[in-house]
Amino acid sequence: MVTSNTELAYNSKIEGEVIVSRADAVINWIRSNSMWPMPMGLACCAIELMAAGASRFDIARFGAEVMRFSPKQADVMIVAGTVTYKMSSAVRRIYDQMADPKWVIAMGACASTGGMYRSYAVLQGVDRILPVDVYVSGCPPRPEALLDALIKLQDKVKREPSASKLLSA
Ligand code: SF4
Repeated sequence: MVTSNTELAYNSKIEGEVIVSRADAVINWIRSNSMWPMPMGLACCAIELMAAGASRFDIARFGAEVMRFSPKQADVMIVAGTVTYKMSSAVRRIYDQMADPKWVIAMGACASTGGMYRSYAVLQGVDRILPVDVYVSGCPPRPEALLDALIKLQDKVKREPSASKLLSA
């Protein structure tokens, strides 16, 4: 019997050649280990995002190396940089073009709160226009902080009721 909501497929009870698990656990395990990012690089934080994707930090270790510039192929938007009002409608439009389920990471002080830019031209946090799942502090955050945010998002995805959502869709 599976008792934990967060238990994964590979932790499930194995009897002979039969693996017993919950549909939620299997779906979420697959989703959380193949999250393709939509790299919304808007300013200096995007340099650290690029570093996270390169060999030293290697975001591929967490199944998120497939950066997709087509929103229809992306699962998680990583907003890295200053969101100006002029750019905000484009950010929202790209988010709307991503297929469900989709998630958002606000990377850095600017994306999270507007950062140092208390200005008429800058949105005071991307959560004014779309739902954010994980915020990353720092100006800029180091690549390790982004990887930590990705792991936190994976933990969140593993607790979602995926199977019931699929059945009701
Ligand atoms: S948080 Fe700092 S590093 Fe990141 S976009 Fe803003 S000013 Fe640049």
